Amino acid sequence: LIAFLLYLFYLVAPIGQLVEGAVQLQQGLAAVKRIKEIEDLPAEPVAVAAPSTAEPVGLRFTDVVFRYAEDRPAVHQGVSFEVPPGGLTALVGPSGAGKSTVFALLERFYEHQEGTITVGGRDIGDWPLPELRAALGYVEQDAPVLAGTLRENLLFAAQDATEDDLRRAITRTRLDDLVARLPEGLDTAVGHRGVLLSGGERQRVAIARALLRRPRLLLLDEATSQLDAVNELRLREVIAEVAAETTVLVIAHRLSTVTNADRIVVMEGGGVRAVGTHDELVGQDELYRELAATQFLVS
Ligand code: ADP
Ligand code: MG
Repeated sequence: LIAFLLYLFYLVAPIGQLVEGAVQLQQGLAAVKRIKEIEDLPAEPVAVAAPSTAEPVGLRFTDVVFRYAEDRPAVHQGVSFEVPPGGLTALVGPSGAGKSTVFALLERFYEHQEGTITVGGRDIGDWPLPELRAALGYVEQDAPVLAGTLRENLLFAAQDATEDDLRRAITRTRLDDLVARLPEGLDTAVGHRGVLLSGGERQRVAIARALLRRPRLLLLDEATSQLDAVNELRLREVIAEVAAETTVLVIAHRLSTVTNADRIVVMEGGGVRAVGTHDELVGQDELYRELAATQFLVS
């Protein structure tokens, strides 16, 4: 039951809000583990756990209007675009265009005022919230590493993942080298009280954490910090591999992510300005060309 509550807690709060609670959470998790060991209880079945096969879902925004507060101007002023199931779609645009707000609406942190949002062909309001959030994997921009070991970081929201699942997620996110390098492998403390991870490693830990929940749609808000060439290549490989299995919608901050995308949605001023592949947009859209020239390094 405690694990279940922690899971629900995870579903309703973005990870950024949980960092402060991470220490208590670690203690809570340790307590759960001890109880289980002592009483030899079987693992609690988690009612809202993602299914073993995670069928990719697409999404569609149709004329979405959204304001954060009634007396504020609309942040989305009729946003329309479609993401088919599977593959890689990139969202790009200048700072303030409304990209992160797309993710906030998909997670239903906020409710849009006009228009329609569907996920998997179903109106977003018709999804039971835990089911919707279980279907979505959300990797925040600059996702933090939590206090505790690397294993705890990865299993944070996927307590019932097997050792095999864990190994697979590590390999898929190109974290094998990191695990091999750490003095106690997966059981090494990381974060500010342990081994510090690079920006690229932190991002891949966050992706692995999301993948362990078997999302049907992965929302990835790329970190804006520069990555070295090796980390950039790894990230590109990871995104391509995940996009081969499920739907990936990425707010892209690097050219290497965008050039590999199946489609790119260019947002500006609360609307969608253009949609196309990199080659198409370079030929057709001036704003896109400008963004590409600056490597999309905008928040
Ligand atoms: P982007 O991710 O493209 O930079 P955002 O979706 O974060 O753009 O923001 C779009 C607009 O909405 C900005 O003007 C921003 O200040 C505003 N905004 C974003 N989040 C909030 C919030 N939680 N409350 C009020 N305004 C917000
Ligand atoms: Mg943003």
